[in-house]
Amino acid sequence: MATDLTEKLKILADGAKYDVSCSSSGSSRANNGGIGNAASSGICHSWTSDGRCVSLLKILMTNRCIYDCAYCVNRSSNDTQRVALTPQEVAELTIGFYRRNYIEGLFLSTGVVRSPDYTMELLIQAVRTLRSEYRFNGYIHLKLVPGADPLLVQQAGLWADRVSVNLELPTRESLLLLAPDKSRDAVVGPMRQVSSLIVSNRAERKQSRKAPRFAPAGQSTQLIVGATPDTDRQIVTLSEQLYQRLELKRVYYSAFIPTVADSRLPARPETPLRREHRLYQADWLLRYYGFSAHELLDEASPNLDSELDPKTGWALRHLELFPVEINGASYEELLRVPGIGVRSAQRIIQTRRQGHLGIDDLTRLGIVMKRARYFITARGQYVGESGLESSSLRSRLVDAPKQRCPVQLSLDLEQPVVDETASLITGEL
Ligand code: SF4
Repeated sequence: MATDLTEKLKILADGAKYDVSCSSSGSSRANNGGIGNAASSGICHSWTSDGRCVSLLKILMTNRCIYDCAYCVNRSSNDTQRVALTPQEVAELTIGFYRRNYIEGLFLSTGVVRSPDYTMELLIQAVRTLRSEYRFNGYIHLKLVPGADPLLVQQAGLWADRVSVNLELPTRESLLLLAPDKSRDAVVGPMRQVSSLIVSNRAERKQSRKAPRFAPAGQSTQLIVGATPDTDRQIVTLSEQLYQRLELKRVYYSAFIPTVADSRLPARPETPLRREHRLYQADWLLRYYGFSAHELLDEASPNLDSELDPKTGWALRHLELFPVEINGASYEELLRVPGIGVRSAQRIIQTRRQGHLGIDDLTRLGIVMKRARYFITARGQYVGESGLESSSLRSRLVDAPKQRCPVQLSLDLEQPVVDETASLITGEL
């Protein structure tokens, strides 16, 4: 690789590392004679120790930007070295990395150059080159530029597996404060359009399997947490709406880490990654555990408890519903027990068909007895030492602080940093 291309790649990969909205699951693009296949492996997921996803070539097309978002290293007023790749260079880099087995797909984002339309056209040109000239069938996650023409948004979804627009900040006011060049409507407009195109594409493909696929892995977004005074309640409620109304595949949360000085940004050095982790747990409860945002957070408690996972916090506020008898509870009731995750609830339902379960059976079914013991009985037996009424129950359930590495993703593809603590964001609660 030419040195100046290597240097550009280093700068542009570094510029992309703050975007956490990459995930590569859910696509089934078939290999029709070219190279790469998003279906065969589902694309492997590797996570850095702070939850960032690797295995995709994750780069910006350029770190030049006409906008000046307060929180961004690439903002126009920041004195930093600016570089850009051509669409052809993006395609060649991707293929080069793919052939060397470093990556399985591409996550392509960008700063905004000249105009949203011009920038979107460059992105589309890069992925079109990959798909048409190089016949690349691997996974592509493409950023949509807020304010881009709807026709370009439509084209982008026809080439990419997943598309995303970053909401960045949960409220209109916060966006206006920190990213005044991007209006809420310019961000939400493409999300709405993508959502409705996905729905119509589904219907078209029912009529004819030959209909081209539109964003088969759906859309995602990212929210920055802690750069503005927005509460967890506002964030979780927004996520719930995005999942329900726009069918987003994922909302990603990124703890704000100051990279540039700006009087509009909070003075405190860093939002605890624990808050980000709690939001991921709450997000999991929304998507897989049947919880609603209003059950987790309300006006009186607008932020998640940093010491307790949100399901345990909910259970402590609803002790009248416990203990539940493992042998009689419904799947939905089991899911609400702290320490019983989706998989262990399924195993309980299956296994108890063969006979009633005793306390001794539960650990091997994957139940985290350290938490669950206070909230269950098995064949009528209760083994929570202190009992539900105990004033020490909360302190017994408080999480021990976890050591998490606050560093951002390094795209050192020679030595990918794989995180063995991926369960932090997989949500077995
Ligand atoms: S639009 Fe804002 S967040 Fe995106 S690169 Fe430009 S300054 Fe950064």
